[in-house]
Amino acid sequence: MSGLTTEDREIILGSIRDIPDFPKPGIIFKDITTLLSDPTAYKRLMDHLADRYSGYELDYIAGIDARGFIFGAALADRLGVGFVPIRKKGKLPYTTVAEKYSLEYGFDEVEIHIDAFGDDGLHCITGKKSRVLLIDDLIATGGTAKAAASLIDKVGAECVECCFILELSFLKAKDDFTVPVYSVLEID
Ligand code: AMP
Repeated sequence: MSGLTTEDREIILGSIRDIPDFPKPGIIFKDITTLLSDPTAYKRLMDHLADRYSGYELDYIAGIDARGFIFGAALADRLGVGFVPIRKKGKLPYTTVAEKYSLEYGFDEVEIHIDAFGDDGLHCITGKKSRVLLIDDLIATGGTAKAAASLIDKVGAECVECCFILELSFLKAKDDFTVPVYSVLEID
C-alpha cells in the first residue's frame, strides 16, 4: 500500500478551508466543500483511500450523515462494495436502531436500518459477519463515530476500522476507541 506523498498532503490540506466561529463562537469549522470542488485534491484523496482499503476485504462502507456520505459512497463505488448511511434521528424510513451521543457543539442521535448489513449483520452472499469500514470527514471528540461504530456492532456486523479525512489530534479522541482508527490528516 502506498501512502500519501508530502505533495498529496499539501494539496489536500490546502484545499480545506477554515471558517472561524461557525456554527458558534470558538469553533473553527473545517469546510471540506472546497476540497470537493477541487478535482485534483478530491482525486488524490480518493486514490489514497481506494489504495489503502482495497486489501481490507470489506463488504460495506458506512458513512456518517452527512459529509461521510460523500467520501463513503465514492469509495464504495471504487471498491465495488455496498454503501450504508448512518443518519441523524428521524431520517431513515425503515425500522432503525438508535444511539445517542454528544459532539463538540451539542448533542445528537444517530440511526441505522436494522437490516443494513443483511439479517443479523450476516452478508447475503458469504453468510459471514459483514466487514464494515466506517467513514466521516472529521473526528473531534469522537462521540459521533463511537455511536456509529456501536450501531454497526448492534446490528451484528463488524466495524474493522474508522476512517476520517481530518483528525483534531489535540482532542486525543482516538485513544479510547476499541476499533482501529485511521486519519488521513492530523491537525495539532
Ligand atoms: P465529534 O463527535 O466531536 O468527533 O464530531 C464529529 C462530527 O462533527 C463530524 O460529523 C464532523 O463533521 C462534525 N464536526 C465537529 N467538529 C467540527 C469542526 N471543527 N469542523 C467541521 N466539522 C466538525
